[in-house]
Amino acid sequence: MPDRPRRRDIVITAVLGLLVLFVLMAGGVLEPAAWLAASSAFAALAFIYFLTAVTRTSPRPAAQIARPARPSDAESAEAILEKIAVPVLLIGPGGRIERANPAARAFLALGAEGGLLSTSLRQPRVLEAVSAALRGERGAVVEYASLAPIESHVRAFVEPIRMPVAGPMPWRAMLVLADETSSKRAERMRADFLANASHELRTPLASLSGFIDTLRGPARDDEEARDRFLFIMREQTDRMRRLIDDLLSLSRVEMNEHVLPSGTADMRTILFDVADSLRPMAEARSITLDVPDDLPPVEVTGDRDQVYEVIENLVENAIKYSPEGAVVRVTAEDDCGRDRAEHAPDRIAADSARLLLAGPPFDARQRYGVVRVRDCGAGIDRRYLPRLAERFFRVDGQKSGPASGTGLGLAIVKHIVTRHRGGFAVESAPGAGSAFSVFLPKPAVSQTVKPASGSVASDTEVLAGQE
Ligand code: ADP
Repeated sequence: MPDRPRRRDIVITAVLGLLVLFVLMAGGVLEPAAWLAASSAFAALAFIYFLTAVTRTSPRPAAQIARPARPSDAESAEAILEKIAVPVLLIGPGGRIERANPAARAFLALGAEGGLLSTSLRQPRVLEAVSAALRGERGAVVEYASLAPIESHVRAFVEPIRMPVAGPMPWRAMLVLADETSSKRAERMRADFLANASHELRTPLASLSGFIDTLRGPARDDEEARDRFLFIMREQTDRMRRLIDDLLSLSRVEMNEHVLPSGTADMRTILFDVADSLRPMAEARSITLDVPDDLPPVEVTGDRDQVYEVIENLVENAIKYSPEGAVVRVTAEDDCGRDRAEHAPDRIAADSARLLLAGPPFDARQRYGVVRVRDCGAGIDRRYLPRLAERFFRVDGQKSGPASGTGLGLAIVKHIVTRHRGGFAVESAPGAGSAFSVFLPKPAVSQTVKPASGSVASDTEVLAGQE
């Protein structure tokens, strides 16, 4: 393209030049005035044309050299596709995979050669939609779920695309796979939670309304029965109150789980306060709450009320799930490394099961404050340990003293500990009891570096263990 006008300009300029030459040579034939007019007119014309041709054509090659080569639209689209984290495929005639971005290759475990879509994705409804798109029919959205190798929920978007190719088969199908497994799982958990919560509330409510009917009817004049029923009704309302308290507490904790606590709390003082408040409950069942007096102060980064809730839940459980007359021992340790924090120095039994129910990412320099609650109750079978912190989970057939549980206490503990970037571990052996450990990060220590002797420079503050 840029050559053509230049060549034309040269030819025209040459013709005009020849005309000037011809007029000059005809000087003897023409009248001097006419000869002068014609020769200067042709000379001026040739000069002006030459000038405009030069100014018109010369910038073009310069601009072409300066501008970097631009990728074509197809290359840009390809580069974007490669980076998109959502699986995208282009399916050609016969259902052959012509293009697949890395996300699609990983999602469908495709080899280097794409092959047929039907061998990688055995979803008849998706394959039908792809065939329709390849015939140039309308696009479709297909949802499918697969249970193996792991449960997954996918929404497939299929769209026909007309390609600029000659021949009878210009249609391709674009297939986009949106993985909706986590949102489906969250949806189901919410539904399960609502179903569980309403079921838990409905049971005491049904029993209350049954007793009210009995008291208004057959037991109206039976004083002894009335007292007994009122006692049970009291227990049921207490249970409903506990459940509502726990549900509210859980939702409060969940709401600010992503916000790191900024204050500090002394786990030892909190532990003493919890022990004082639960001693009457323990004494009512002749349980000894053994808390050593000489515990060290255990300062951690934490929200005092939430740390109180954690320790209270664990001590209350230990009392609830211990037989009458047993001992519950509560201890605290300061400044522990991760390993020591997670595992109590003395095991409950040689074959006890240990499990970390929640834990912070490993950081060798982080130190922790720990509280351990050890009981000599029935213990928990190792197969139940992973489920302990699930909402509403209760070990089947367990005796729990007079106040039956809600199954929410350990879920609350886990959420609070997670918010504090701490850890929560359990060790148990059926027949020998259980030990629950909670460890929370110690605040960054502010160390004072003394200046070299004789120096009068002010002390320098450095953060130890947290640089
Ligand atoms: P609950 O309100 O039912 O006690 P939790 O969430 O605190 O709810 O505990 C969940 C389940 O874990 C309990 O129902 C009980 O089966 C079991 N559990 C918790 N702590 C102990 C313990 N110290 N000893 C034995 N089992 C326990």
